[in-house]
Amino acid sequence: MLSRLGIALVLPPPTSRKTVELGVRHAPEFACFPLKLNLGNFLEARELGADTILMAGGIGPCRFGYYAEVQREILADLHVPMEMVVLEPPAGDWGAFKAGVRSLIGGRSWWDVLKAIRFAWYKARAIDAVEAEVLYLRPRLFEPQRVEELCREALGRLDASGSRQELDHAVGEFRRTTRGLPRRSGALLRVGLVGEIFTVLEPYANYDIERHLGLLGVEVTRGIFLSEWINEHLFGGLLRVHGLEHVEELAAPYLNAFVGGHGRETVAATVHFARQHYDGVVQVAPFTCMPEIVAHSVLPAVARDQEIPTLSFYLDEQSGIAGIVTRLEAFVDLMTARRSRRGKQEAAGRKRL
Ligand code: SF4
Repeated sequence: MLSRLGIALVLPPPTSRKTVELGVRHAPEFACFPLKLNLGNFLEARELGADTILMAGGIGPCRFGYYAEVQREILADLHVPMEMVVLEPPAGDWGAFKAGVRSLIGGRSWWDVLKAIRFAWYKARAIDAVEAEVLYLRPRLFEPQRVEELCREALGRLDASGSRQELDHAVGEFRRTTRGLPRRSGALLRVGLVGEIFTVLEPYANYDIERHLGLLGVEVTRGIFLSEWINEHLFGGLLRVHGLEHVEELAAPYLNAFVGGHGRETVAATVHFARQHYDGVVQVAPFTCMPEIVAHSVLPAVARDQEIPTLSFYLDEQSGIAGIVTRLEAFVDLMTARRSRRGKQEAAGRKRL
């Protein structure tokens, strides 16, 4: 969106070990993992010459509303001269939101801003379409790394696209190429991935859980995609986008209040996946994430009533990939045994009839 408006954009490198080390060195120990990662992203962007940070603000019961202020103070203590523009959600105060956007766009017209938002939205949809296809294909392919290579190429083409036609072409090309890849047959385990949005969407923050599950032969469905979040939070749910609807009804009676972050969505998505006969749900969250701890506290009741196993991961810089993969493997064994037991019970029921 910013590039479309002709604003010079410095994109920090993808999150890496170096990002984590920078963030962890300067952030409070018990800050949420995303705050540390973002701080590392800012410092890496500074190394590349960025002088302004565009940061989202927040309202509600969790710590997100304080993120930008804490990060601003840390950067000031470090004598890093970066200006921070904080976009508070429009639901809070439209005046402040407009002022924040105006300080970024300078003299550009609101019409240009709308066109840039629309294009950014198409781009986010295209990225989500490619990533959803990878989640579907990875466990089905004899050579899953091939679809990952094709995904990287497609994302590069999407990044370079300057029109909606180019975006459609890049997605179409990706689908055409992946259609010809040799696949296995047979039914797969299906798992829903739920939790705090940053951890769900950022592979470095979730230790590539989607990939590990896919390589274990499990089809993963994300509880939320970025474009769905944009539609819900920035467009007020105006666009007809397939996403998790009726969150409040689904989460009731387990969680009847807004607890911040995506706590209620986590519960709602777990119920949704159970009703769709998924084999299990994996919840991911930063260590000490308050909304997800609340959601986690009601998941045993959801799992019991809705008959779906759940597995929760609280992640930060101290987490280790070996332990994560071992727990995933055990969860896959559990789901496999459960499915086979159910199959036998259903077969026995049919015989009795
Ligand atoms: S949602 Fe969780 S991780 Fe995000 S700011 Fe709130 S408490 Fe921290």
